[in-house]
Amino acid sequence: MYFFPRAEEMKAFNRGNFLNKVCESYLGNIVDIYTYLESTIFLLKLQDGKMTLDIQPFIEYIKEHNGKNHRAALGGSTPLFFKTVLSLKDKMKPVELGDGATVHTGGGGWDGRKGNINIGATIERWRFVEEVSNFLGIPQENFTDTYSFTENSFTMTGHYSREHRDYLFHVPEFAHVIVRDIKTLKPVKEGQRGFIQVLNAYGTSAFAGASILVDDIGEVVSYTQCPECGYRGMVIKLIGRVKGTEAKGCGATLGGDGVGGN
Ligand SMILES: [Zn+2]
Repeated sequence: MYFFPRAEEMKAFNRGNFLNKVCESYLGNIVDIYTYLESTIFLLKLQDGKMTLDIQPFIEYIKEHNGKNHRAALGGSTPLFFKTVLSLKDKMKPVELGDGATVHTGGGGWDGRKGNINIGATIERWRFVEEVSNFLGIPQENFTDTYSFTENSFTMTGHYSREHRDYLFHVPEFAHVIVRDIKTLKPVKEGQRGFIQVLNAYGTSAFAGASILVDDIGEVVSYTQCPECGYRGMVIKLIGRVKGTEAKGCGATLGGDGVGGN
């Protein structure tokens, strides 16, 4: 169950040409390689060039699996998911999907664009997890998120931590992240914050081996090991974006016209 459109619709949406090459959604291409496409319900539909959210299949799905502890995976655009849960909370009783269910978000939708989606500028991660966890009856430990961006050739997966009230993102073994002090640009110590710099894995044919300093602020939780699950490697938290930068994540882009009415 995804708050995304089907891959072919996502790729067709705002498709353009650059130097005679087709430019299409990064996220659409990611969704296209999901191995479970056939059994997935996509809640966003492309109609007359606009993305429209249909929450009826979502309501039927959560009623059908209520109290049964089935294996279920829910995810997609964070602002749309959150907005749907907030609107249903006033209309129906919470359900209990149980610990067989997981919630995976991604697509950069945490700073949901103002105006398009009327839930304010930023979604606090802990608030999303607590509200959705309470309404759907899914344990907070079953919430995961992905951090990546178009210029970057790898993704970082984070699991929610009740203690940190935030997601802890694991930096993969083959990649490298440097968190740099905002004033001095020197690498920070554990527990400190700064700009996130990502060094891509070398030797890939699809992306240049680039080093990119982004305007996202991160905090180094540990350089060596995840304090919760024991993962060996660097672990970071995402604090937010530098003030004044525009929300341009894939999730925010999807929340375009035609979504607000549902
Ligand atoms: Zn961990």
